[in-house]
Amino acid sequence: MHTFEFVRAKDEPSAVAAGSKSRTAQQGASVRFLAGGTTLIDLMKLNVERPTDLVDINRLPLDEIEALGDGELKIGATVRNTNLAHHVAVKRDYPVLSQAILSGATAQLRNMATTAGNLLQRTRCVYFRDTAWPCNKREPGTGCSAIDGANRTLAILGTSEHCIATNPSDMNVAMMALEATIHIHGPGGRREVPIGQFYLLPGKTPERETVLEPGDLITHVTLPPPAAESKSLYLKLRDRASYEFALVSAAVIVTLKDDRIARARIGLGGVGTIPWRSLEAEAALVGQPASDATFKKAADAALRDAKPQSENRFKIELAKRCLVHALKIVTGKT
Ligand SMILES: Cc1cc2nc3c(=O)[nH]c(=O)nc-3n(C[C@H](O)[C@H](O)[C@H](O)COP(=O)(O)OP(=O)(O)OC[C@H]3O[C@@H](n4cnc5c(N)ncnc54)[C@H](O)[C@@H]3O)c2cc1C
Ligand code: SF4
Repeated sequence: MHTFEFVRAKDEPSAVAAGSKSRTAQQGASVRFLAGGTTLIDLMKLNVERPTDLVDINRLPLDEIEALGDGELKIGATVRNTNLAHHVAVKRDYPVLSQAILSGATAQLRNMATTAGNLLQRTRCVYFRDTAWPCNKREPGTGCSAIDGANRTLAILGTSEHCIATNPSDMNVAMMALEATIHIHGPGGRREVPIGQFYLLPGKTPERETVLEPGDLITHVTLPPPAAESKSLYLKLRDRASYEFALVSAAVIVTLKDDRIARARIGLGGVGTIPWRSLEAEAALVGQPASDATFKKAADAALRDAKPQSENRFKIELAKRCLVHALKIVTGKT
Protein backbone atom coordinates (compact mmCIF):
# COMPACT_ATOMS: atom_id res chain seq x y z
CA MET A 1 0.00 0.00 0.00
CA HIS A 2 1.26 3.47 -0.82
CA THR A 3 1.59 6.09 1.91
CA PHE A 4 2.91 9.63 1.85
CA GLU A 5 3.92 12.17 4.43
CA PHE A 6 2.60 15.68 4.52
CA VAL A 7 5.41 18.16 3.88
CA ARG A 8 4.95 21.73 5.00
CA ALA A 9 6.25 24.16 2.40
CA LYS A 10 8.80 26.75 3.48
CA ASP A 11 7.51 30.10 4.72
CA GLU A 12 6.96 32.50 1.90
CA PRO A 13 8.41 35.99 2.52
CA SER A 14 5.92 37.66 0.18
CA ALA A 15 2.93 36.13 1.92
CA VAL A 16 4.29 36.93 5.37
CA ALA A 17 5.06 40.50 4.35
CA ALA A 18 1.52 40.89 3.07
CA GLY A 19 0.22 39.83 6.46
CA SER A 20 -1.29 36.68 4.95
CA LYS A 21 -1.47 33.46 6.93
CA SER A 22 -1.72 31.51 3.67
CA ARG A 23 1.61 30.03 2.82
CA THR A 24 0.57 26.94 0.98
CA ALA A 25 -2.07 25.52 -1.20
CA GLN A 26 -5.10 27.77 -1.05
CA GLN A 27 -6.53 30.55 -3.15
CA GLY A 28 -4.31 33.61 -3.20
CA ALA A 29 -1.41 31.78 -1.54
CA SER A 30 2.09 31.94 -2.95
CA VAL A 31 2.69 28.18 -2.86
CA ARG A 32 0.05 26.12 -4.63
CA PHE A 33 -0.73 22.52 -5.43
CA LEU A 34 -0.82 21.73 -9.15
CA ALA A 35 -3.09 18.92 -10.38
CA GLY A 36 -4.35 18.97 -13.99
CA GLY A 37 -3.56 22.68 -14.21
CA THR A 38 -6.62 23.48 -16.34
CA THR A 39 -7.83 26.10 -13.87
CA LEU A 40 -4.61 27.15 -12.17
CA ILE A 41 -2.33 27.54 -15.22
CA ASP A 42 -5.16 29.25 -17.09
CA LEU A 43 -5.49 31.84 -14.33
CA MET A 44 -1.70 32.23 -14.02
CA LYS A 45 -1.54 33.15 -17.72
CA LEU A 46 -4.10 35.87 -17.01
CA ASN A 47 -2.12 37.12 -13.97
CA VAL A 48 -5.17 36.39 -11.79
CA GLU A 49 -3.30 33.74 -9.81
CA ARG A 50 0.35 34.52 -9.13
CA PRO A 51 1.89 31.78 -7.01
CA THR A 52 5.67 31.88 -6.63
CA ASP A 53 5.95 28.08 -6.25
CA LEU A 54 3.92 25.15 -7.53
CA VAL A 55 3.88 21.76 -5.83
CA ASP A 56 3.11 19.13 -8.46
CA ILE A 57 0.92 16.47 -6.80
CA ASN A 58 0.49 14.29 -9.87
CA ARG A 59 2.92 11.63 -8.70
CA LEU A 60 1.30 11.16 -5.30
CA PRO A 61 -0.54 7.82 -5.03
CA LEU A 62 -3.96 9.45 -5.14
CA ASP A 63 -5.22 8.31 -8.52
CA GLU A 64 -7.21 5.20 -7.62
CA ILE A 65 -10.95 4.51 -7.49
CA GLU A 66 -11.71 1.85 -4.91
CA ALA A 67 -14.87 0.15 -3.61
CA LEU A 68 -14.75 0.11 0.18
CA GLY A 69 -16.07 -2.73 2.32
CA ASP A 70 -18.99 -0.72 3.66
CA GLY A 71 -20.36 -0.04 0.18
CA GLU A 72 -18.78 3.41 -0.16
CA LEU A 73 -16.76 4.43 -3.20
CA LYS A 74 -13.37 6.09 -2.63
CA ILE A 75 -12.16 8.44 -5.36
CA GLY A 76 -8.57 9.67 -5.24
CA ALA A 77 -7.88 13.40 -5.54
CA THR A 78 -5.89 13.05 -8.77
CA VAL A 79 -8.27 10.67 -10.55
CA ARG A 80 -8.85 12.27 -13.95
CA ASN A 81 -12.39 13.34 -14.74
CA THR A 82 -12.46 11.04 -17.78
CA ASN A 83 -11.48 8.00 -15.73
CA LEU A 84 -14.06 8.83 -13.08
CA ALA A 85 -16.89 9.36 -15.56
CA HIS A 86 -16.20 6.06 -17.35
CA HIS A 87 -15.50 3.92 -14.29
CA VAL A 88 -17.78 0.89 -14.26
CA ALA A 89 -18.98 1.42 -10.66
CA VAL A 90 -19.69 5.11 -11.28
CA LYS A 91 -21.69 4.43 -14.44
CA ARG A 92 -23.63 1.67 -12.71
CA ASP A 93 -24.21 3.14 -9.22
CA TYR A 94 -23.81 6.91 -9.64
CA PRO A 95 -24.89 7.72 -13.22
CA VAL A 96 -25.65 11.32 -12.24
CA LEU A 97 -21.94 11.84 -11.53
CA SER A 98 -20.84 10.29 -14.80
CA GLN A 99 -23.37 12.39 -16.76
CA ALA A 100 -22.39 15.61 -14.96
CA ILE A 101 -18.69 15.17 -15.68
CA LEU A 102 -19.26 14.23 -19.32
CA SER A 103 -21.43 17.32 -19.83
CA GLY A 104 -18.51 19.56 -18.90
CA ALA A 105 -15.66 21.08 -20.90
CA THR A 106 -14.14 18.88 -23.62
CA ALA A 107 -12.63 15.41 -23.83
CA GLN A 108 -9.13 16.90 -23.78
CA LEU A 109 -9.83 18.97 -20.66
CA ARG A 110 -11.50 16.05 -18.89
CA ASN A 111 -8.41 13.93 -19.63
CA MET A 112 -6.35 16.40 -17.57
CA ALA A 113 -8.82 17.68 -14.94
CA THR A 114 -8.79 15.92 -11.57
CA THR A 115 -11.36 15.27 -8.85
CA ALA A 116 -9.86 17.76 -6.37
CA GLY A 117 -9.08 20.33 -9.05
CA ASN A 118 -12.69 20.21 -10.20
CA LEU A 119 -13.94 20.65 -6.62
CA LEU A 120 -11.75 23.77 -6.40
CA GLN A 121 -12.23 25.26 -9.87
CA ARG A 122 -12.91 28.98 -9.79
CA THR A 123 -15.65 31.20 -11.14
CA ARG A 124 -15.87 32.22 -14.79
CA CYS A 125 -17.04 35.75 -13.88
CA VAL A 126 -15.40 37.87 -16.58
CA TYR A 127 -14.29 40.55 -14.11
CA PHE A 128 -12.55 37.99 -11.91
CA ARG A 129 -10.57 36.86 -14.94
CA ASP A 130 -9.60 40.37 -16.11
CA THR A 131 -7.22 42.25 -13.81
CA ALA A 132 -8.24 45.59 -15.32
CA TRP A 133 -11.51 45.46 -13.34
CA PRO A 134 -12.28 45.78 -9.63
CA CYS A 135 -13.26 42.42 -8.12
CA ASN A 136 -13.72 41.60 -4.44
CA LYS A 137 -12.94 37.94 -4.99
CA ARG A 138 -9.59 38.67 -6.70
CA GLU A 139 -8.66 41.82 -4.75
CA PRO A 140 -10.71 42.03 -1.54
CA GLY A 141 -12.19 45.46 -0.89
CA THR A 142 -12.00 46.75 -4.47
CA GLY A 143 -15.69 46.30 -5.27
CA CYS A 144 -17.83 44.07 -7.48
CA SER A 145 -17.92 45.07 -11.15
CA ALA A 146 -20.57 42.48 -11.99
CA ILE A 147 -23.43 43.82 -9.89
CA ASP A 148 -23.82 46.79 -12.26
CA GLY A 149 -22.16 45.05 -15.18
CA ALA A 150 -22.34 41.89 -17.27
CA ASN A 151 -24.06 39.43 -14.97
CA ARG A 152 -26.17 37.30 -17.32
CA THR A 153 -24.34 34.08 -16.39
CA LEU A 154 -23.91 34.81 -12.69
CA ALA A 155 -25.69 33.58 -9.57
CA ILE A 156 -29.21 34.13 -8.25
CA LEU A 157 -28.93 32.07 -5.07
CA GLY A 158 -26.51 32.61 -2.18
CA THR A 159 -25.28 35.98 -3.43
CA SER A 160 -24.15 38.93 -1.31
CA GLU A 161 -23.63 42.61 -2.02
CA HIS A 162 -19.91 41.78 -2.29
CA CYS A 163 -20.03 38.99 -4.88
CA ILE A 164 -22.56 37.30 -7.17
CA ALA A 165 -20.20 34.90 -8.94
CA THR A 166 -21.45 31.42 -9.89
CA ASN A 167 -19.66 28.21 -9.01
CA PRO A 168 -19.20 26.87 -12.55
CA SER A 169 -18.71 23.15 -11.93
CA ASP A 170 -20.99 20.39 -13.18
CA MET A 171 -19.32 17.61 -11.18
CA ASN A 172 -19.78 19.47 -7.91
CA VAL A 173 -23.56 19.67 -8.37
CA ALA A 174 -23.75 15.88 -8.66
CA MET A 175 -21.39 15.51 -5.69
CA MET A 176 -23.78 17.68 -3.66
CA ALA A 177 -26.79 15.53 -4.53
CA LEU A 178 -24.74 12.41 -3.76
CA GLU A 179 -23.70 13.81 -0.35
CA ALA A 180 -20.00 13.23 -0.93
CA THR A 181 -17.43 13.58 1.84
CA ILE A 182 -14.15 15.43 1.26
CA HIS A 183 -11.07 13.94 2.95
CA ILE A 184 -8.30 16.36 3.81
CA HIS A 185 -4.73 15.99 5.07
CA GLY A 186 -3.22 19.16 6.46
CA PRO A 187 -0.70 20.44 8.99
CA GLY A 188 -3.19 19.65 11.77
CA GLY A 189 -3.71 16.06 10.65
CA ARG A 190 -6.54 14.40 8.75
CA ARG A 191 -10.19 15.39 8.72
CA GLU A 192 -13.40 14.74 6.78
CA VAL A 193 -15.85 17.39 5.67
CA PRO A 194 -19.31 16.64 4.24
CA ILE A 195 -19.57 18.47 0.94
CA GLY A 196 -22.59 20.37 2.27
CA GLN A 197 -20.21 22.10 4.70
CA PHE A 198 -17.22 22.40 2.35
CA TYR A 199 -18.15 25.51 0.32
CA LEU A 200 -18.57 28.96 1.86
CA LEU A 201 -21.13 31.53 0.75
CA PRO A 202 -19.44 34.77 -0.36
CA GLY A 203 -20.83 37.00 2.40
CA LYS A 204 -18.23 39.70 3.11
CA THR A 205 -15.30 37.44 2.18
CA PRO A 206 -15.83 36.16 -1.36
CA GLU A 207 -12.11 35.45 -1.67
CA ARG A 208 -12.59 32.57 0.78
CA GLU A 209 -14.41 29.83 -1.12
CA THR A 210 -14.03 26.68 0.98
CA VAL A 211 -13.19 25.58 4.52
CA LEU A 212 -9.71 24.52 3.42
CA GLU A 213 -6.96 25.98 5.59
CA PRO A 214 -3.44 26.87 4.47
CA GLY A 215 -1.56 23.70 3.64
CA ASP A 216 -4.62 21.46 3.35
CA LEU A 217 -4.38 18.80 0.66
CA ILE A 218 -7.51 17.00 -0.51
CA THR A 219 -6.54 13.33 -0.60
CA HIS A 220 -9.81 11.73 -1.73
CA VAL A 221 -13.58 11.90 -1.85
CA THR A 222 -15.98 9.19 -0.67
CA LEU A 223 -19.51 8.58 -1.88
CA PRO A 224 -22.04 6.82 0.34
CA PRO A 225 -23.50 3.57 -0.99
CA PRO A 226 -26.08 4.26 -3.70
CA ALA A 227 -29.63 4.60 -2.38
CA ALA A 228 -31.57 1.40 -3.03
CA GLU A 229 -33.95 1.51 -6.01
CA SER A 230 -32.97 5.10 -6.82
CA LYS A 231 -32.72 6.64 -10.28
CA SER A 232 -30.61 9.66 -11.09
CA LEU A 233 -30.04 12.18 -13.85
CA TYR A 234 -27.99 15.30 -14.64
CA LEU A 235 -29.62 17.80 -16.98
CA LYS A 236 -27.60 20.81 -18.18
CA LEU A 237 -28.95 23.78 -20.15
CA ARG A 238 -26.42 26.09 -21.82
CA ASP A 239 -25.95 28.50 -24.70
CA ARG A 240 -24.43 25.86 -26.99
CA ALA A 241 -24.36 22.08 -26.92
CA SER A 242 -20.72 21.54 -25.97
CA TYR A 243 -17.67 23.29 -24.55
CA GLU A 244 -19.90 25.59 -22.49
CA PHE A 245 -20.69 26.10 -18.82
CA ALA A 246 -24.23 25.64 -17.46
CA LEU A 247 -26.71 28.48 -17.49
CA VAL A 248 -28.72 26.21 -15.22
CA SER A 249 -28.50 22.52 -14.42
CA ALA A 250 -30.14 19.96 -12.16
CA ALA A 251 -28.82 16.79 -10.53
CA VAL A 252 -31.72 14.68 -9.32
CA ILE A 253 -31.74 11.38 -7.42
CA VAL A 254 -35.18 9.97 -6.73
CA THR A 255 -36.58 6.78 -5.19
CA LEU A 256 -40.18 5.94 -6.07
CA LYS A 257 -42.44 3.68 -4.03
CA ASP A 258 -45.95 2.96 -5.31
CA ASP A 259 -45.66 6.02 -7.56
CA ARG A 260 -44.89 8.28 -4.59
CA ILE A 261 -41.53 9.87 -3.96
CA ALA A 262 -39.91 8.10 -1.02
CA ARG A 263 -36.54 9.89 -1.20
CA ALA A 264 -35.14 12.82 -3.19
CA ARG A 265 -31.80 14.59 -3.45
CA ILE A 266 -31.66 17.74 -5.57
CA GLY A 267 -28.61 19.71 -6.71
CA LEU A 268 -28.73 22.82 -8.90
CA GLY A 269 -25.92 24.26 -11.02
CA GLY A 270 -25.41 27.61 -12.72
CA VAL A 271 -27.59 29.41 -10.20
CA GLY A 272 -25.66 29.35 -6.93
CA THR A 273 -22.52 31.01 -5.62
CA ILE A 274 -21.73 27.49 -4.42
CA PRO A 275 -22.86 24.16 -5.90
CA TRP A 276 -26.46 24.31 -4.70
CA ARG A 277 -28.36 21.64 -2.79
CA SER A 278 -32.06 22.39 -2.53
CA LEU A 279 -33.38 21.00 0.74
CA GLU A 280 -36.55 22.99 0.01
CA ALA A 281 -37.20 21.08 -3.22
CA GLU A 282 -36.45 17.77 -1.51
CA ALA A 283 -38.96 18.53 1.27
CA ALA A 284 -41.60 19.45 -1.31
CA LEU A 285 -41.10 16.13 -3.12
CA VAL A 286 -40.92 13.53 -0.36
CA GLY A 287 -44.19 11.73 0.33
CA GLN A 288 -45.91 13.28 -2.69
CA PRO A 289 -47.18 11.58 -5.85
CA ALA A 290 -44.77 11.72 -8.78
CA SER A 291 -46.75 14.24 -10.81
CA ASP A 292 -46.33 17.45 -12.75
CA ALA A 293 -47.98 19.41 -9.94
CA THR A 294 -45.54 18.03 -7.35
CA PHE A 295 -42.54 18.77 -9.55
CA LYS A 296 -43.68 22.36 -10.14
CA LYS A 297 -44.14 22.91 -6.40
CA ALA A 298 -40.64 21.59 -5.77
CA ALA A 299 -39.19 23.88 -8.44
CA ASP A 300 -41.01 26.89 -6.96
CA ALA A 301 -39.62 25.99 -3.53
CA ALA A 302 -36.09 25.66 -4.90
CA LEU A 303 -36.12 29.11 -6.48
CA ARG A 304 -38.22 30.93 -3.85
CA ASP A 305 -35.24 32.85 -2.45
CA ALA A 306 -33.71 33.66 -5.83
CA LYS A 307 -32.37 37.21 -6.14
CA PRO A 308 -31.87 38.02 -9.83
CA GLN A 309 -29.46 40.63 -11.14
CA SER A 310 -30.09 43.05 -14.03
CA GLU A 311 -29.40 40.49 -16.79
CA ASN A 312 -30.24 37.09 -15.31
CA ARG A 313 -33.86 37.13 -14.20
CA PHE A 314 -34.51 34.52 -16.93
CA LYS A 315 -32.56 31.99 -14.88
CA ILE A 316 -35.39 31.66 -12.36
CA GLU A 317 -37.86 30.29 -14.90
CA LEU A 318 -35.17 28.35 -16.77
CA ALA A 319 -33.98 26.64 -13.58
CA LYS A 320 -37.54 25.74 -12.64
CA ARG A 321 -38.17 24.20 -16.06
CA CYS A 322 -34.85 22.38 -15.94
CA LEU A 323 -35.67 20.81 -12.57
CA VAL A 324 -39.23 19.87 -13.57
CA HIS A 325 -38.00 18.29 -16.80
CA ALA A 326 -35.25 16.35 -15.02
CA LEU A 327 -37.79 15.04 -12.49
CA LYS A 328 -40.16 14.01 -15.26
CA ILE A 329 -37.44 12.07 -17.07
CA VAL A 330 -36.11 10.34 -13.98
CA THR A 331 -39.58 9.26 -12.82
CA GLY A 332 -40.69 8.21 -16.32
CA LYS A 333 -43.44 10.86 -16.46
CA THR A 334 -42.47 12.41 -19.79
C1 LIG B 1 -12.16 26.03 -21.71
C2 LIG B 1 -12.66 25.37 -20.45
C3 LIG B 1 -13.97 24.91 -20.39
C4 LIG B 1 -14.46 24.31 -19.24
N1 LIG B 1 -15.75 23.88 -19.18
C5 LIG B 1 -16.23 23.32 -18.04
C6 LIG B 1 -17.59 22.89 -17.92
O1 LIG B 1 -18.39 23.00 -18.86
N2 LIG B 1 -17.99 22.35 -16.74
C7 LIG B 1 -17.15 22.21 -15.69
O2 LIG B 1 -17.57 21.71 -14.64
N3 LIG B 1 -15.87 22.61 -15.75
C8 LIG B 1 -15.39 23.15 -16.89
N4 LIG B 1 -14.10 23.57 -16.95
C9 LIG B 1 -13.30 23.57 -15.74
C10 LIG B 1 -12.53 22.29 -15.52
O3 LIG B 1 -13.43 21.27 -15.15
C11 LIG B 1 -11.55 22.58 -14.37
O4 LIG B 1 -10.57 23.48 -14.87
C12 LIG B 1 -10.88 21.33 -13.84
O5 LIG B 1 -11.83 20.46 -13.29
C13 LIG B 1 -9.85 21.70 -12.77
O6 LIG B 1 -9.14 20.54 -12.42
P1 LIG B 1 -7.53 20.53 -12.49
O7 LIG B 1 -7.09 19.20 -11.97
O8 LIG B 1 -7.04 20.90 -13.83
O9 LIG B 1 -7.22 21.67 -11.42
P2 LIG B 1 -5.93 22.59 -11.22
O10 LIG B 1 -5.98 23.71 -12.18
O11 LIG B 1 -4.67 21.78 -11.17
O12 LIG B 1 -6.24 23.10 -9.74
C14 LIG B 1 -7.36 23.89 -9.45
C15 LIG B 1 -7.25 24.37 -8.01
O13 LIG B 1 -7.29 23.28 -7.10
C16 LIG B 1 -6.14 23.24 -6.27
N5 LIG B 1 -5.88 21.82 -6.05
C17 LIG B 1 -5.80 20.85 -6.99
N6 LIG B 1 -5.69 19.66 -6.41
C18 LIG B 1 -5.71 19.86 -5.06
C19 LIG B 1 -5.65 18.99 -3.93
N7 LIG B 1 -5.55 17.67 -4.05
N8 LIG B 1 -5.74 19.55 -2.69
C20 LIG B 1 -5.84 20.90 -2.54
N9 LIG B 1 -5.86 21.75 -3.58
C21 LIG B 1 -5.82 21.24 -4.82
C22 LIG B 1 -5.07 23.98 -7.07
O14 LIG B 1 -4.06 24.52 -6.23
C23 LIG B 1 -5.91 25.07 -7.72
O15 LIG B 1 -6.18 26.09 -6.80
C24 LIG B 1 -13.60 24.15 -18.11
C25 LIG B 1 -12.26 24.58 -18.19
C26 LIG B 1 -11.79 25.19 -19.34
C27 LIG B 1 -10.36 25.65 -19.39
S1 SF4 C 1 -19.23 38.75 -8.94
FE1 SF4 C 1 -17.55 38.18 -7.57
S2 SF4 C 1 -16.00 37.46 -8.99
FE2 SF4 C 1 -17.40 38.73 -10.20
S3 SF4 C 1 -16.65 40.86 -10.12
FE3 SF4 C 1 -18.07 40.61 -8.43
S4 SF4 C 1 -16.71 40.09 -6.73
FE4 SF4 C 1 -15.58 39.64 -8.58
